[in-house]
Amino acid sequence: MNIILLGPPGAGKGTQARRLVEQRGMIQLSTGDMLREARTSGTEMGKKVAEIMDRGELVTDEIVIGLIEEKLRGESASGFIFDGFPRTLGQADALGALLDKLGQSLDAVIEMQVDDEALVRRITGRFTCGNCGEVYHDETKPTKVEGVCDVCGSTELKRRADDNEESLRTRLLEYYKKTSPLLGYYYAKGKLDRVDGLAEIEDVAAAIKDALDKV
Ligand code: ADP
Ligand code: ADP
Ligand code: ZN
Repeated sequence: MNIILLGPPGAGKGTQARRLVEQRGMIQLSTGDMLREARTSGTEMGKKVAEIMDRGELVTDEIVIGLIEEKLRGESASGFIFDGFPRTLGQADALGALLDKLGQSLDAVIEMQVDDEALVRRITGRFTCGNCGEVYHDETKPTKVEGVCDVCGSTELKRRADDNEESLRTRLLEYYKKTSPLLGYYYAKGKLDRVDGLAEIEDVAAAIKDALDKV
């Protein structure tokens, strides 16, 4: 089963994708994570990507489609979770064509609905484990022991350069201009399901499970 988690920055896509990986053995394909890896590579492409990401703008379709294609061809799994991809109609078309070519289908698109007010708090309180990638929040999901990852024990906890209010404004604008049309696109294809992203993490997970059980 291949699914897309769709929603604005801070909606909880990464958090829920990690749970699905753990529970269903699916593979999480986060273009944000791939791009953050690319920017540390020191190449010209990496530098360009870093500037765009820090401003909160979208990188070109060509770059992210290339990254996704490489992963899809390289891995076989009991399913892929697309997290933060597609973000434009061009990317959505490219994903459809790619899955067709590989003889695979897109089974569900889950919209995580949240209100914009909540996103500022979500983004400004977010930190992650640099070792295992677990996602935390100062208020809603702190570590049990301060400064230590619950999952792997690492003390390498970090915040993203783009997780500030100014970059979030740009990211939200990009979301409404370029990504939100995908909701209509997938609705028309009969693939869209909506869950309340403002609920507790466990309850959001349960709602996603219900949606996927129907597929
Ligand atoms: P968030 O989880 O806050 O939504 P991501 O980690 O998904 O953020 O993305 C971080 C940044 O990486 C985006 O602001 C954008 O610059 C870039 N990015 C990630 N995915 C894509 C994509 N599919 N298309 C274009 N840019 C992307
Ligand atoms: P996205 O990948 O959509 O940008 P994340 O999964 O990184 O979102 O979540 C953004 C922040 O909100 C993180 O700090 C995370 O711990 C927190 N968070 C995620 N889901 C919930 C939830 N249902 N309730 C409260 N906080 C949440
Ligand atoms: Zn960890």
